[in-house]
Amino acid sequence: HAKRNRIDLQTYSQQIDANSLDRLQLVNELKAAIENNELVLFYQPKLNLAINKVTHVEALVRWQHPVRGMIPPDTFIPIAEQMGQMNALTHWVIHQALSQYHLWLAEGIELAIAVNISAENLKNQSFGEFVLSAIEQHQVPIEALTLEITEDAVVADPENAIKQLNQLKQHGLTLSIDDYGTGYSSLAQLKQLPVDELKIDKSFVQNLMTSDDDKTIVSSTIQLAHNLGLKVVAEGIEDEGSLKWLAKHNCELGQGFYLSKPVDAKMLANWLARSPY
Ligand code: C2E
Ligand code: CA
Ligand code: CA
Ligand code: CA
Repeated sequence: HAKRNRIDLQTYSQQIDANSLDRLQLVNELKAAIENNELVLFYQPKLNLAINKVTHVEALVRWQHPVRGMIPPDTFIPIAEQMGQMNALTHWVIHQALSQYHLWLAEGIELAIAVNISAENLKNQSFGEFVLSAIEQHQVPIEALTLEITEDAVVADPENAIKQLNQLKQHGLTLSIDDYGTGYSSLAQLKQLPVDELKIDKSFVQNLMTSDDDKTIVSSTIQLAHNLGLKVVAEGIEDEGSLKWLAKHNCELGQGFYLSKPVDAKMLANWLARSPY
């Protein structure tokens, strides 16, 4: 994994120390947190680099704990995963995101929303059914939801994962490989996945302007993806130079602190109203 950069360290020190948490207690509290509305989705815009317009967002969960303060997902998602809580959490995330789609639409803002999917979700035999019925229940167009999937999440149970993803893909859902370049899967394995999009990991994007190696990696990844018929999202864009470079290299979507950090739904609407996008 990439080294934490300075921004990460700053936010981290303001938040809690993962080691100080009692894991079991945290997981019991997490169950209650969903019921007590302590979880909140933040949204980070993805800019369509060809038309300079924000067309997508990624939903990222945060836990507003009444005593511990804001708990970042890196602290509680791995624990939730180990303790078998990820189906409940992902269900909450998807319902919340699909409700938000309508709330924004009522304000005249149309945004496709990407949610992160974990290994436990892709081990579940009825995951595909769940996602399709949520879309049906909320009456949103199938294009309004993207699933971001890491290679790790597929490797846990490739057979079932591919089955669930194929079912979703057949209904027209957009599937994206997250953190691309950090895993150990071979291209042969990735080729079996019915994905539409590669998301280049931020560790290759953050230092794009100062690293010739990263430029080579990113431009070849874009070419490779395009040759395989996949769209490309670059995450971790932290400066204007990188944004322009990616647009010039025909990367479809760009996301990162240079545009906006993840913010709550209301702040995102405010940001959109003020930004040139
Ligand atoms: P991820 O899916 O790779 O999400 C991208 C992370 O990079 C986010 O951290 C985001 O705030 C951060 N980021 C975005 N732009 C930049 C940038 O320009 N520079 C830097 N340094 N960082 C940037 P966040 O929100 O703390 O989430 C961390 C991870 O937690 C996510 O990584 C994802 O793996 C997991 N996660 C978050 N929400 C969910 C969720 O609802 N479900 C699941 N299963 N996992 C989630
Ligand atoms: Ca993601
Ligand atoms: Ca990522
Ligand atoms: Ca990640």
